[in-house]
Amino acid sequence: MDFSLDERAEAFRAEVRDFLREHLTDEVRARVAASGTYHDREFHRAVAERGWIGAGWPVADGGQGRDRADLDVLYEEMAAAGAPVEGLSVTLIIAETIRRVGTPEQKERILGPVREGRLVLSLGYTEPDAGSDLAAARTRAVRDGDGWRIDGQKNFTTHAHEADYVFLLARTDPEAAKHAGLTMFLVPTSAPGFSLSPVHTLSGERTNLTFYSDVRVGDEARVGAEGQGWEIVSLALAFERGGEFAAQLRRLVHASVRWAHAAGRTDDPRLLRRLGQVVAATSVARLLGARATWLRSKAGAGAVEGAMAKVYATEELLRGSGDLLDATGADALLGPETPDAPAGGELQHLYREAQISTIYGGTSEVLRGVIAERRLGLPRGRRR
Ligand SMILES: Cc1cc2nc3c(=O)[nH]c(=O)nc-3n(C[C@H](O)[C@H](O)[C@H](O)COP(=O)(O)OP(=O)(O)OC[C@H]3O[C@@H](n4cnc5c(N)ncnc54)[C@H](O)[C@@H]3O)c2cc1C
Repeated sequence: MDFSLDERAEAFRAEVRDFLREHLTDEVRARVAASGTYHDREFHRAVAERGWIGAGWPVADGGQGRDRADLDVLYEEMAAAGAPVEGLSVTLIIAETIRRVGTPEQKERILGPVREGRLVLSLGYTEPDAGSDLAAARTRAVRDGDGWRIDGQKNFTTHAHEADYVFLLARTDPEAAKHAGLTMFLVPTSAPGFSLSPVHTLSGERTNLTFYSDVRVGDEARVGAEGQGWEIVSLALAFERGGEFAAQLRRLVHASVRWAHAAGRTDDPRLLRRLGQVVAATSVARLLGARATWLRSKAGAGAVEGAMAKVYATEELLRGSGDLLDATGADALLGPETPDAPAGGELQHLYREAQISTIYGGTSEVLRGVIAERRLGLPRGRRR
């Protein structure tokens, strides 16, 4: 498989870089750093105005019908520049799922406003006792007249405080087998009984606990059939793991090169050796990510390849950011609030981000299990 990009995609890369120079301003970066929210309304709207939200959807669905190469370029450039695209990428994971399994009414209600940058969606899977073992979810949805009554708690509902809906995994049949009694809902964050509280993480990113207390929604909130929740979550999870993690490695390379030039260390063999290892890992991670995104439209949606791409890129980020922090010396620990911090504080930020990147979106241990079982045909490692 040849994943090299043609001239047209490279021209699009230049267009994306121009856009980022114009819209990823110091003010946007400062707002994101201060809030810990990797979503910025102004930046998000600017992306929408270019028609780049849902750019890969067919023209008939309101997209630009862009091909995989363009999308890879778009997300790679935005992630590598450190743009606040968490809200955008999560919204697209859910919107893509709705596009495939939603009712005509849901597509009408959700997809247009998503494309226009007016609607942001967040993921409500994880619970206090159901993280890796998602199918253990206990948040309850009970039939209530024509609609549903929802009660429970979710952990790590990232950017829910900016979102219009939570894509919620709930248990609708406690008597059914674990994976069979689940159903997906789109719960409006404006619904009475919904509340949240912030959680600040090691990387500086803010996420949330979300609470559902006697939340009433109509049946139009249900996504897919009753009991089909596990199937739908599995589809959405496949869209979560692709090439974006490789872009974090590229960010690390750029920050280190910037610092090496500023510090006059471009001929330091110890630094160059470590940098070379990260550059090589970045190339491998980009190829694994490109393969995963390419397979998204095929049977299986590239779920196993996405797991491979995520494990490899995040573990290399963990190793590489530690190595380069070490090679840079104590000053690398300085944050962006300190003038003259190496690479504007980017090195320590990436190091902190690396620590949690092997957890969110599926931990390395769990994803290794997925690869072992589904690709290598090995027996299940631990009863789930
Ligand atoms: C910054 C951040 C943002 C997040 N955003 C969201 C979000 O928006 N929406 C959302 O729903 N969730 C979100 N998550 C949750 C994330 O997906 C979970 O943290 C992750 O799936 C792990 O679940 P857990 O934290 O409950 O850990 P646990 O599942 O309790 O795991 C604890 C440890 O046990 C290991 N382990 C568990 N099961 C197995 C197994 N079968 N085999 C081997 N080892 C195992 C794990 O690898 C881990 O080391 C976010 C998490 C973070 C840190």
